[in-house]
Amino acid sequence: MSLILGAIADDFTGATDLANNLVRSGMRTVQVLGAPDADTPVPDDVDAVVVALKSRTCPVDEALADSLAALDWLKGGNRHGEAARQIFFKYCSTFDSTDAGNIGPVADALLDRLGGAQTVMVPSFPTTGRTVYQGHLFVGDRLLNDSGMQDHPLNPMHDADLVRVLARQTPHQVGLLDDRVIRGGVAQAQEHLHRLGADGVRHVICDTLNDDDLEVLAGACVELELVTGGSGLGQALPGEYRRLGWLEPNADAARLEVAEGGPLVLSGSCSRATLAQVEHFLERHPGVALDPLELADGDAPIEAALAFVRQHREDTPDEPVLVYASAAPQRVQAAQQRLGVARAGELVERAMAILATTLVGEGIGRLLVAGGETSGAVVSALDLGQLRIGGQIDAGVPWTQARVEGRILSLALKSGNFGGVDIFTRGFDVLAEVAP
Ligand code: ADP
Repeated sequence: MSLILGAIADDFTGATDLANNLVRSGMRTVQVLGAPDADTPVPDDVDAVVVALKSRTCPVDEALADSLAALDWLKGGNRHGEAARQIFFKYCSTFDSTDAGNIGPVADALLDRLGGAQTVMVPSFPTTGRTVYQGHLFVGDRLLNDSGMQDHPLNPMHDADLVRVLARQTPHQVGLLDDRVIRGGVAQAQEHLHRLGADGVRHVICDTLNDDDLEVLAGACVELELVTGGSGLGQALPGEYRRLGWLEPNADAARLEVAEGGPLVLSGSCSRATLAQVEHFLERHPGVALDPLELADGDAPIEAALAFVRQHREDTPDEPVLVYASAAPQRVQAAQQRLGVARAGELVERAMAILATTLVGEGIGRLLVAGGETSGAVVSALDLGQLRIGGQIDAGVPWTQARVEGRILSLALKSGNFGGVDIFTRGFDVLAEVAP
């Protein structure tokens, strides 16, 4: 069966979040890292592809160029000439953007290229407390502009009225599909969209109070060329694809192939959750610490960590080993005061990147990485182009599968605050369950 959904996500973790929801709703999904070109292979046997860009806060021109490159590739500008049936522009459920964009300009450019007249905007994700009422975005019980997002360093959100926010980002008309209409069901919602379209409304902000509303919205917009929103909509669309006969029921969407090499955990996150996970792991399995102050004097600590992991792989090849820079706030501050915040982080990220490439090269096959920036450093060092998304260990932390020099690598990337206290050990048990 051919490609159904092609998604363009404006950042890496947002892409993973959407991919995770698609897999959980029964779509076989691959995440592509960075803007693809004609030579980027289209993965076999997938229902959805999510292209992860870094276009949320970059200059508008760059965001447009990357998004259109991704669109062209997804619409057939690839070696197989395979075209996705529907395009999904994914942004953050807190509508992260500025008056300059990039949500409005990117949505306009995608619609223009697709020849479409209208799209919907569905940022909500009710399970994580993001809802929209009368066009106003709430985070839990707070309006967006009172949720902490007003202090965001890159894109402070001072206005919760999304019709007004988006109107500043596009020359076209913005309208509202409100909750009263949505409660009337799919046909009423579609009729409302058509009426708005006849009045020249190009972008429609959609209310969503709960998962039932998401299902109505998915039904109303499943045949649009372009939909836009957060990952909540990704949870509802697959059911519509099945109803239309585009997607076959598949209980194995989360299955990954078996990775043969041993297990390793690399942790560069210093979040409270990660510190507890490190402690929990060290009570049961071997681990070695990395200290940025020592890394500043040379690579000896990296060599020592490599020797430690190699020794344990020889003695107990199936037991997970941990290398961690994670440290309590006082230790982190001490290192940052001596080295500067950026240099302390760079030293740790470089060390983790070297450890990942060396040890994967030596046969590590199952790798769990803790920390958003740390994960970014490891993924770039391993030069991974595509990740197949599998079953999740904990909310928002799926196992993924990549290929490194022809071998399968099972990889889980955990941002700081995610995961239960035992994720570093239980993660490997979950992997055994999602593999055939
Ligand atoms: P999180 O997802 O928890 O924010 P990140 O990996 O994104 O984790 O960020 C943690 C940052 O802290 C990284 O840049 C990492 O290199 C840095 N870091 C890790 N350990 C230390 C340490 N002991 N001292 C100073 N900085 C550290």
